[in-house]
Amino acid sequence: MPDPSPCDFFVIGGGSGGVRAARMAARLGARVVLAEAAALGGTCVNVGCIPKKLYSYAAHFADDFRDAAGFGWHVGETSFDWSVLKANRAAEIQRLNGVYGKLLADAGVQLVTGWATVVDAHTVHVRTASGSESFTANHILVATGGHPTVPDFPGRELVLTSDDVFDLEPFPRRLLVVGGGYIACEFASIFNGLGSRVVQLYRGEQVLRGFDADVRQFIAQELRKHGVDLRMNCEVASVAKAAGELVATLKDGTTLAADAILYATGRVPNAANLGLEEAGVKFEGRGAVVVDQHYQTSVPSIHALGDVTDRIQLTPVALGEAMVVAQRLFGDGKRTLGYDFIPTAVFTHPNIGTVGFSEEEARQRYGEVTIFRSEFKALKHTLSGSAERTLMKLVVDTASDRVVGLHMVGPDAGEVVQGFAVAMKAGATKAVFDATIGIHPTAAEEFVTMRDPVR
Ligand code: FAD
Ligand code: NDP
Repeated sequence: MPDPSPCDFFVIGGGSGGVRAARMAARLGARVVLAEAAALGGTCVNVGCIPKKLYSYAAHFADDFRDAAGFGWHVGETSFDWSVLKANRAAEIQRLNGVYGKLLADAGVQLVTGWATVVDAHTVHVRTASGSESFTANHILVATGGHPTVPDFPGRELVLTSDDVFDLEPFPRRLLVVGGGYIACEFASIFNGLGSRVVQLYRGEQVLRGFDADVRQFIAQELRKHGVDLRMNCEVASVAKAAGELVATLKDGTTLAADAILYATGRVPNAANLGLEEAGVKFEGRGAVVVDQHYQTSVPSIHALGDVTDRIQLTPVALGEAMVVAQRLFGDGKRTLGYDFIPTAVFTHPNIGTVGFSEEEARQRYGEVTIFRSEFKALKHTLSGSAERTLMKLVVDTASDRVVGLHMVGPDAGEVVQGFAVAMKAGATKAVFDATIGIHPTAAEEFVTMRDPVR
């Protein structure tokens, strides 16, 4: 066995957080090695944000074709070819994998393709296709992400997770989606738009727990309007295969037949079998690596960030954390990341965009809040004939006049809310919103023209 190769920074995982941390550290002069067991780019690039958004665009054409008629267009007969979408997506993702490889190479990061495990506080072992390599490092970063989790029930092996749906064969004419979170709602919208008959089952009273109650109720109504058969208080007891189809039996005894069943019941950290426990790293909750405010684990030379810490599972959060870690270890250490007012979007049809507190959270935190709410038919739909409606809502802390929650359900809500998130982060008050001139005619202008609070 050759002596381990030395480096300053060994990064385990070439996803959103790992690649960013490796590149930033290398730019700051560190000798960096990154191990990735699968494709570069991690969840976001390969089986997450990017392919999901591409499929969401694909699904949207169904609405666009329908909407076009009211504007005088005769679109004629349309048909959808799943294999074309899959092939084009795969080619684009492969291109992005290459871009990530080039970014690492250009930054001077050494890439090792293989499964990495921690041997001790300063040593990493990588199992590669041709054998194995060992490295010693001043600092080790665990950025190994997470994976979908499916509860135990008879027939569990017959269901799919989001990792499987992108290349599903054949296209599911009938899709059963289980869950009420981001992934379940997004994929229910996507497959509904692409032409599947989608039934979505949620175990609770309303989907998207944690979001503003108005938003939850409104999106449920819109999902149904768009054709998703969304059912609450439903739990699957078992799944069986019969005569070429899958049959889910619910806890109330009802049965549902489908061509495919997607379980979107959360994601858990990839922290097991990495040698971390043996090295002294502490875990909590669903197996998340415990870190302090500097992303340092209980072993000082080992840091962790992103989904493996099971805090906020979003790509921009992993990227932000990565920059803090790289700066702290190899730069001036001044960079910090605030976890308040993190904007997020759910790419349902229509989208949800949100930043800050829900009305319920704000009432608990601030006491008295003032609510501004507007619900309307977007200008486009006055001619398209679509029944889709838009919801916009502001939550204002009455005492300080600060806007502490901003929520939208409507086309491109993610794009709209990103800009407002800057204002919210800067502490904008309702008076500042009121003093801002709108852009006419847009839906976004509604956020600066709402004058009458909800009584
Ligand atoms: P990952 O990106 O998962 O990267 C971890 C990497 O580590 C992987 O490449 C893995 O192969 C590698 N790895 C693991 N163990 C080892 C090992 N022992 N050795 C070597 N390599 C290893 N977020 C958004 O902000 N917007 C979205 O629209 C969005 N959509 C999503 C849609 C879906 C379907 C899913 C599943 C997630 C989505 N997310 C979205 C969440 C986002 O993808 C994650 O929060 C983000 O990718 C986390 O980055 P990470 O660096 O922590 O982990
Ligand atoms: P979520 O945690 O968002 O949702 C999980 C859902 O599954 C919840 O509705 C939960 O119900 C339900 N559930 C959990 N356990 C069970 C069970 N045993 N039986 C039935 N239902 C169950 O996870 P997702 O998998 O949707 O997504 C993981 C994370 O990835 C998200 O939280 C988000 O951070 C990220 N992501 C971000 C996206 C974006 O930014 N647009 C898109 C996709 C993912 P309950 O609420 O009752 O617990």
